Amino acid sequence: MAVKRDPDNVEVMSTDVVTMDKIVSLSRRRGFVFPSSEIYGGLGSTYDYGHYGVLTKNNIRSRWFDSMVQERDDIVALDSAVILNPLVWQASGHVEGFTDPLVDCRTCKLRFRADRLEDSHCGRKPSKKPGETPDCDLTEPRQFNLMFETSVGALAAEGSKAYLRPETAQGIFINFKNVLQLARRRPPFGIAQVGESFRNEITPGNFLFRLREFEQMEMEFFVPPDDAEQWHTYWIEARLAWYHGLGLRETNLRVREHGPDERSHYSLATSDIEYLYPIGWSELEGVANRGDYDLRQHTEASGTKLEYVDPDGSRYTPFVIEPAVSIDRILLALLVDAYDEEVVEERERTVLRFHPVVAPVKAAILPLISKEQAGMVEPARKLYEELRRHHLVEYDDAGNIGRRYRRQDEIGTPWAFTIDDVTLEDGTVTVRDRDSLAQERLPLEGVRAWLDDALERPWSR
Ligand code: ATP
Repeated sequence: MAVKRDPDNVEVMSTDVVTMDKIVSLSRRRGFVFPSSEIYGGLGSTYDYGHYGVLTKNNIRSRWFDSMVQERDDIVALDSAVILNPLVWQASGHVEGFTDPLVDCRTCKLRFRADRLEDSHCGRKPSKKPGETPDCDLTEPRQFNLMFETSVGALAAEGSKAYLRPETAQGIFINFKNVLQLARRRPPFGIAQVGESFRNEITPGNFLFRLREFEQMEMEFFVPPDDAEQWHTYWIEARLAWYHGLGLRETNLRVREHGPDERSHYSLATSDIEYLYPIGWSELEGVANRGDYDLRQHTEASGTKLEYVDPDGSRYTPFVIEPAVSIDRILLALLVDAYDEEVVEERERTVLRFHPVVAPVKAAILPLISKEQAGMVEPARKLYEELRRHHLVEYDDAGNIGRRYRRQDEIGTPWAFTIDDVTLEDGTVTVRDRDSLAQERLPLEGVRAWLDDALERPWSR
């Protein structure tokens, strides 16, 4: 995935250097992502996010929230509960229909999604697909519900059964009336929500791509039925542009429309924004036209009318356009897109070429020599303390400067400010650019304004 660049000191390696293994290993080595419950042997497809993972996720979440809520007039926020009245999931069709077809292999005892056998590996011969060897003995497919069950209250009796939400969207639909009344909005308007969702996936895996617990960002946009198709197109384009704005390469993104047999039970039309992950083109985000399915189902089941009444007295059930994605899949796409390896002055370096807006650390402040007597620590700390009031920056005085640069390259820090002996003479610092490796000198007191400005500048690779 490395981009060919041609500066004199840079020898370009392969154009396709990124693999899932390299992403997993960098994520772990640099503290983005750890396998969960590791000291107990882990738990399939659950991960814990370390410091830089949390910071990057925060950046993704806040870019999403800003673009959905802060920068618009027509979308409001909501944070609904994870565990809802189980009747919600009856009415929404999830108890009945949120299933994947499951097959067991009687020989290797593994389970597979019947509709994904092509992407699965036989338990005995991983080079083959399930069903391909004479020993494979697959059962007929049966429907497996992906919702995690739990129970509410002290007694785990039948009446106490509840579910961990498999999508945040239903929390939005059941609050439609509250929001309509209190937010003084009329269609077209949207409700945005970010929060954990849970799915007991049959074949989880591929690192952050398919998790059992993930953080969704969903927005339900309520529109007059006649305008639904137009808004569907609008949101597909808007979401694609948002990914370009995060710095993802346009050639690694595409839109794919679902065929009629692929759509979820609620969908009138769905288009996926796909990303070219190391596992091939796969869904990054789904943009669905859910029609009036959900509001009608809840109206019928709850007896509460979830509709819009116009001031002229006419009433209708709005259609819903839903862009839905998980932060985890975005983070994986960003890591893949940003990952690069190159040889600089005969030394290999790994670098994450993150857009500054998503980079977990915006700048590093590095005194060249960490001994107090050298006099560089004090101005470096002072600069750090000034910058950290405005941006996420990091101070590092441990180890030789080359190693410190490489560490910052691997977590994707766009700029490093180095305090050296020239600083002590003329009050200037060096700024090093992560991507071009160009260095220039700036007056110490101008660093804050320089960084503010750099973070606002348009970015490209
Ligand atoms: P897939 O076809 O990959 O199973 P889906 O069509 O079931 O996905 P949706 O129900 O449309 O997914 O969910 C909306 C979004 O939530 C997805 O586009 C994806 O970004 C995210 N998502 C869904 N399931 C998972 C998961 N198991 N792990 C991580 N993210 C997920």
